[in-house]
Amino acid sequence: AHGAPLRIDVQLDGETIKVGIWKVPVGRNSLILLDTNLPENSPQFRPITEQLYGGDRENRIRQEIVLGVGGARALEAMGLAPTVFHVNEGHSAFLLFERIRALMAGSGLSFKEAREAVWASSAFTTHTPVMAGNEYFDFALVTKYMEPYCKQMGLTMAEFLEIGKEETTSMGFCMTVVALRLCSFINAVSLLHRDTSRDMWHKIWPALPHYEIPIDGVTNGVHTCSWISHEHQKLYRKYLAKDYHGPDSVMDNCDWGKMTEVDDRDLWETHVIRKQKLVKLVRDRLKRQYQRLGSDRTVLDEAEQVLNPDFLTIGFARRFATYKRATLFMRNLERLLEIVTSEKLPVQFVVAGKAHPADTQGKEFIKAVAKLSMDKRFKGRVVFVEDYNMNVARYMVQGVDVWLNNPIRPLEASGTSGMKAAANGVLNLSVLDGWWAEGYSPEVGWSIGSPEVYNSDEERDYVESEAIYNLLQKVIAPLYYDRGPDGLPHGWIKMMKAAIRKLVPHFNTHRMVVEYYEKFYVHAHRATK
Ligand SMILES: *Cc1c(COP(=O)(O)O)cnc(C)c1O
Repeated sequence: AHGAPLRIDVQLDGETIKVGIWKVPVGRNSLILLDTNLPENSPQFRPITEQLYGGDRENRIRQEIVLGVGGARALEAMGLAPTVFHVNEGHSAFLLFERIRALMAGSGLSFKEAREAVWASSAFTTHTPVMAGNEYFDFALVTKYMEPYCKQMGLTMAEFLEIGKEETTSMGFCMTVVALRLCSFINAVSLLHRDTSRDMWHKIWPALPHYEIPIDGVTNGVHTCSWISHEHQKLYRKYLAKDYHGPDSVMDNCDWGKMTEVDDRDLWETHVIRKQKLVKLVRDRLKRQYQRLGSDRTVLDEAEQVLNPDFLTIGFARRFATYKRATLFMRNLERLLEIVTSEKLPVQFVVAGKAHPADTQGKEFIKAVAKLSMDKRFKGRVVFVEDYNMNVARYMVQGVDVWLNNPIRPLEASGTSGMKAAANGVLNLSVLDGWWAEGYSPEVGWSIGSPEVYNSDEERDYVESEAIYNLLQKVIAPLYYDRGPDGLPHGWIKMMKAAIRKLVPHFNTHRMVVEYYEKFYVHAHRATK
């Protein structure tokens, strides 16, 4: 109001620090970022917001207090008064305490009353079935930082710690547990993940039967317009437009049921254009990779030869978290070699991804794929693209024929890259985990294994890698190379159409946001009123 930057106060370890606010327009929304790197703050507090997951446990709890407590205060300082708060993973759960505290201070409610008001107007989404993804803090650390807040809410420290404690273990103060207890609307990110989450958190509601545990499922979606190619956008507009009046999104204007009316050649040519663009991108990037390594002319020329746009192309790109098993397709190199070098039905793999800097095994996976891509026998048939980012992801989900996804079930809570692929007519070959457990049916793609329980990790990897080889060799490649007199793979195209028709209208953010709205936000809003 006075032309000076807006600052809010957050108490940390006996000091009051200043937090700055940045407002970034994103589409029609604003993204609000918090910043502790201000000259007003003493040096030890300035780097709090410097790096995600940077620093030690102490810095981590400081980050989460800045995010949770500071986040609520930032909204208030900006004159925003939301009626509904949505906590995304446990990391921002301190927000719930700050709201309780503010309600008590502002309207004289008791802790119990304020807690109920906050509970009734808060939603929480859990994203990971991996225990390490759920954050725990030592009780001593929580006490050090939260004691002053605790006093303001009229709680003893023991009462406060109880809210983040599980009944049976004392691994510490769990941010997920806090959110589960203080939010009335809770969801996992797919239907299978809902069931997994109920198993995981049954201990919070020990008296309830499994089906009554209050964790719902809202399956993730992708923002379709952001992930389809311009060529696909044009094609969909041509065939599927309802009555197109303006620059609205394809999600508002397309009747996906009309996919059956799309001309086979039109769809195939659109796909081939994207495939050629992917091949060009991969060659350009490989050349730069080799140049950086100081490779000679002959090697650079080789980069011009990798990938054949006419060959069946399998894509795999994501974070190299170990549970995603990026190297599963390499488990039997003899068989892989046989598949990629087949005279009649050749197959090629494009792989990309990054590992978390602290994930040693994830980095080993990258090394293994990179090494295989240099192996003379596999040259040009298994390609690793460095420096994975959203641009590479876009080219890949738009330009390969098949999207491979082989996480260890049920660790992939949802997965989204396969949805991006489907929106571009790319067929999914995936373990029945996350979204694919809902999306899969035989006319739209392939499943790796069935939801079986294995005797050992070894057995699981063997069975599922064999399934990949068998499907590729006996089902997928034969269908891909089965061409009509016009040169088109009509059976394949039929599957592409079915996949787009069935998957795109459901696995998108429009449907997802409506579901959050109808299941949670409307009710939470009414509760606040
Ligand atoms: C979509 C996307 C992801 C997530 O993919 P998953 O299938 O959920 O693992 C990761 N990184 C980038 C760059 C993406 O575009």
